[in-house]
Amino acid sequence: MISPDEARSYVLSQCRPLGVVEVAVADALGMVLAAPVHAREAVPPFVNSSMDGYALRSQDVATVPARLRVVAEVMAGDDPSAVFVGPGEAARVMTGGVIPQGADAVCMVERTRGDGAGWVVIEDAVRAGTSVRPAGDDLAAGEQVFDAGEQIGAAHLGVLVSAGAERVLAYRTPRAGVISTGDELVSGPGPLPPGKIRDGNRPSLLARLKADGFGAVDLGQAPDEMGALEAMLERAAADCDAVLTSGGVSVGDRDLVKIVLEKLGGTTARWLQVAVKPAKPFAFAVLPLGRGVPVFGLPGNPVSALVSYELFARPALRLMAGHRNLGRPVLEVTAAEDLRREPDGRLHLVRAVLSPGEGGHLEARSSGRQGSHQLSALAHANALVLLPDGTGVASGAKVKAWLLDTGPLAPAGAGVIA
Ligand code: AMP
Ligand code: MG
Repeated sequence: MISPDEARSYVLSQCRPLGVVEVAVADALGMVLAAPVHAREAVPPFVNSSMDGYALRSQDVATVPARLRVVAEVMAGDDPSAVFVGPGEAARVMTGGVIPQGADAVCMVERTRGDGAGWVVIEDAVRAGTSVRPAGDDLAAGEQVFDAGEQIGAAHLGVLVSAGAERVLAYRTPRAGVISTGDELVSGPGPLPPGKIRDGNRPSLLARLKADGFGAVDLGQAPDEMGALEAMLERAAADCDAVLTSGGVSVGDRDLVKIVLEKLGGTTARWLQVAVKPAKPFAFAVLPLGRGVPVFGLPGNPVSALVSYELFARPALRLMAGHRNLGRPVLEVTAAEDLRREPDGRLHLVRAVLSPGEGGHLEARSSGRQGSHQLSALAHANALVLLPDGTGVASGAKVKAWLLDTGPLAPAGAGVIA
């Protein structure tokens, strides 16, 4: 057996970030920056008010109430370059409006009252700078906004547009093809013929790829037959940046994926027994017939397929997408029940639910039946608890947990805001 870390290191050593492309900012959501980005413009671009109120000279309101003459109105979007606020004067200004020359502070409208047409009484002795947002307060022109390796999220898009960026250099996002193998598989509706099962792995893996931000290509089912498998894999490698297969990597008489990968992948091919449960068997190769396309021969059992994806394919695809951080967050949590196991020389990954206990500390409980064919427990899980070789842990013990999607972390019935 090989340790999961060692197996992952080999896989990662065979993968490279994909090429760099220049894309419009609007199309860059989810991509990883390939070069640092600098602000072309200051954000905000000019000195402006953070309140609806009156722009004034702070020395005029050292003693309040103070009565000032209103000389102008500055709405957001106005250009008040012809306005000057002199001694004893103020300008009505809206949030985001340019602070006119001469003024150095804003008194919020709630702390003022009108006093006849063209006059306002100020009730707050605001100091210089009050409610004034300097130019470049968020970003100075020329300042580095983001580093290479950063993934572009929703807020990033806003920042890039605000700073005047139109296009960015980003890594291409990998498109991964998914093939299910097995003569027992059927897709689509209708009653199951005897001996057949439904192909659950393909939709799961395609969904997983999409959720992780990768391109997902449904390449259908392959029979347990050498020639057909070989042809499908060659086609897949010509078409995709990576390929995921499920099934056919164990020790059964019809487990042919590992053999085909050895044939097509030459010296890059590995058929591994990984010291982990679930997801022990794993095959991998880089197909030289494509463009150096990694093929992940995931096991057939549904939990194993998804866990093997987490262990090997997801980090590799993240590397290809340009991410620097390849793994999931690992948290230290408290076992809220006994988590027992048998010693077998393998790391066990327990499908678990993390939920906040007393004081907000995360507690882990098994999410259900732990067989590698029992996918329901993974559907209910938001984490995999790492149980190193041994007999497991008792309730109250600290354990490491690999955080999956965080959606179910919120306790049932919790409000929108914690
Ligand atoms: P294999 O490694 O091909 O022997 O598959 C191991 C187990 O996973 C067997 O019980 C298969 O029937 C099952 N299996 C393989 N592929 C799928 C799939 N696409 N969906 C659901 N179960 C599968
Ligand atoms: Mg099979």
